[in-house]
Amino acid sequence: MKTGFSWHELFAWHDAGTYPLPYVEPAAVADSADAKRRFRNLLDVSGLLAQLQPLVVREASDAEILRAHAPELLEKIVATSRAGGGSIGRYAHIGAGGERIVRLAAGAAIEAVDAVLSGQVRNAYALLRPCGHHATRDASMGFCIVNNLAIAACHALDTRDVARIAVVDWDVHHGNGTQSIFWNDPRVLTISLHQDGLFALPGGQSDETGPDPRRTTNLNVPLPAGSGHDAYLSAFDRVVLPALDRFAPQLILVASGLDASSHDALGRMNLHSDSYRAMTTRLMDAAQRHCDGRLVLCHEGGYSATLVPFIGLAIIETLAGVRTEVVDPFLANVAKQSSQQLFAHQSEAIERAQQHVAKVPTP
Ligand code: ZN
Repeated sequence: MKTGFSWHELFAWHDAGTYPLPYVEPAAVADSADAKRRFRNLLDVSGLLAQLQPLVVREASDAEILRAHAPELLEKIVATSRAGGGSIGRYAHIGAGGERIVRLAAGAAIEAVDAVLSGQVRNAYALLRPCGHHATRDASMGFCIVNNLAIAACHALDTRDVARIAVVDWDVHHGNGTQSIFWNDPRVLTISLHQDGLFALPGGQSDETGPDPRRTTNLNVPLPAGSGHDAYLSAFDRVVLPALDRFAPQLILVASGLDASSHDALGRMNLHSDSYRAMTTRLMDAAQRHCDGRLVLCHEGGYSATLVPFIGLAIIETLAGVRTEVVDPFLANVAKQSSQQLFAHQSEAIERAQQHVAKVPTP
């Protein structure tokens, strides 16, 4: 079976707007089409794209979006789109006709989940724009209009034979939207690794473990700025994987932000393509242990137009079990930096999350 892949040219046409800067000329927000399009194009040029299964990209219906969102938010998106575009929330903008692109991204996430659950593909990467993990039930923010991954998870829980889903969010920002949407839903374990103190504050601390103090249904691993390869893998080995092994999910979804890279405009972490390769391998192994390998990655942030394509290629090579002849030109330089090692203050941050893993419910 192949790895599924989703992309639609209209994702690149999404108008994410400009920063409201009072004293200097308006500047486009960090979320441009560039990094995503170059990611998709490197898949093409490397020959990997031809070895993937293209997945259906179609518009999500009102009913599908409303499984995760309030009607008032959808009404605002529709009205703003028809009025020629504008702001939907804090750093959340759509252009004229943007409603269609928002629906296509959410629909692509649903189709990717369905393709994996039906056995059509082994696993899947949905390269989406706009991203989704900051969007809460009733608010768009942080370049996220609706929560694509949450909509797809709700679809699986409501319409497929799935009762336990784990979400792993490795975007450099806290997955606040996904955390809040599933806060009171014990069917979903949400785990977010992120840079401490970044958007969207407040929140993202390791003591946010869910509504019932006896049961950990949400794990946050806020890592200090500068964390690199060893810190992330330590967080995986001490928090993410033991939590997944307790929860025993029937499907693993990944909020795949590539903005924890060493070159990102919005993050100050230090990962490289082999870090993402190693994290992907660990999640594939966990998915194999618990759910026949059922793993779906939904693209989130990632703002380095030069590095994102190589990280994305590394992830999808790993998912597909294929190694192209492409060599990441940044890897050797970034991987040898001394900042890749695990430092004591990073280990302490991981320890604060690790103490909550024993309360993750077992089936
Ligand atoms: Zn992000």
